[in-house]
Amino acid sequence: MPELPEVETIARTLAGEVESRLILGVDVLDQSAIVPDLDAFRALVLGRRIARVDRRGKLLLLHLQAGGGKDGGTIAVHLRMTGRVLALPSTKEPADADALSAHRPRVILTLSDRGQGGMFLLFADVRRFGRMHAFAPGVGPGSIDCWPFYRDLGPEPLLLSAQDFRACLAPSGQSSGKKSRARIKALLLNQGVIAGIGNIYADEALFRAGIRPDAVAGGLSVRRLDRLFAAIRSVLTQAIAENGSSIRDYRDAHGDAGAFQNHFRAYGRGGEKCLDCGAVMRSMRVAGRTSTFCPHCQTS
Ligand SMILES: [Zn+2]
Repeated sequence: MPELPEVETIARTLAGEVESRLILGVDVLDQSAIVPDLDAFRALVLGRRIARVDRRGKLLLLHLQAGGGKDGGTIAVHLRMTGRVLALPSTKEPADADALSAHRPRVILTLSDRGQGGMFLLFADVRRFGRMHAFAPGVGPGSIDCWPFYRDLGPEPLLLSAQDFRACLAPSGQSSGKKSRARIKALLLNQGVIAGIGNIYADEALFRAGIRPDAVAGGLSVRRLDRLFAAIRSVLTQAIAENGSSIRDYRDAHGDAGAFQNHFRAYGRGGEKCLDCGAVMRSMRVAGRTSTFCPHCQTS
C-alpha cells in the first residue's frame, strides 16, 4: 500500500533519526522478513554506518558505509501492503523491551549513540508481505544493481519530462504494439514502466486528468497525456507535502499519520457523488485492481 509519497515521507522522517549511526545489533524475530538468510544478512549490515536514507519507486533505501568511508552496500525495504519502518529512541531502561514489542517488529536494528542516545530502527509488518533485503557493496553479484526488481524499475515520475513520460507509455519501435493496446491504469501501476505509483495515486491522477482508468493508452492524444503527466506530478507533490495518505496502516518513521486521504477525489469513493459534477462515482476492475472514476468527468 505505501506508494511513492508515503515511502518518501518515511525516508525523510527516518533520515534525521538514523543517518550517521552505526548498526550495532540485528534482531530478527521473523526470519521470513529478511533476505538473504540471517547469517548472511548480519554479515552484510553489522558494524556498517547508515550514511544516507532515500527512496527509489516504493523502495526505502538505507545506503551503508564501511570503515574508511567506503561503500558498505544497501538495505532495501519493500513495505508492500502493511510494512512500517519506525525510529524509536533508546531510553536504556527496562521499558524499552515493552515499547519495542508493542509495535510487533519483525526486525530490530540497534543503532549507535550519536551524542543524543541510541536508537532502534524497527521493521514491523502485520500482513508479513514486506521484506528487508541486504545487498553487498559495488555493482557485482550480490549488489543491489544485480537485483532484477530494482534494476528493472521504470523512471521516477518527479524526475521526468513530459516528453519522457509519453515515451515510457508508448515507445517507438517493436515493443510499441503491446503497450499501445494496454489500459492506461495498468501502465501506471506497472513498476517497470514508471516507478512509485500504486492504486491510490493512479486513481487520483486519472480523475484530475479526466481520463478513464480503462482508456487505451495508445489512443490518448499528446495533449491528454501531458495533462495526465501534470496531474501525476501535482498529486504526488501535494501528497508528499501532506506526509502521505493514511487509510489503514501507513505511518511515517515517527509513527505519525499522513493527511492526504482528506484530499481524495476518486480513490475509495465508489457510489459517492463526484466532487466536481455530482454524478455517482463508479468502480470497475482494471489490471486486477478496484478503480474508481466519474463516468461524466472521465472520458476515454
Ligand atoms: Zn464528475
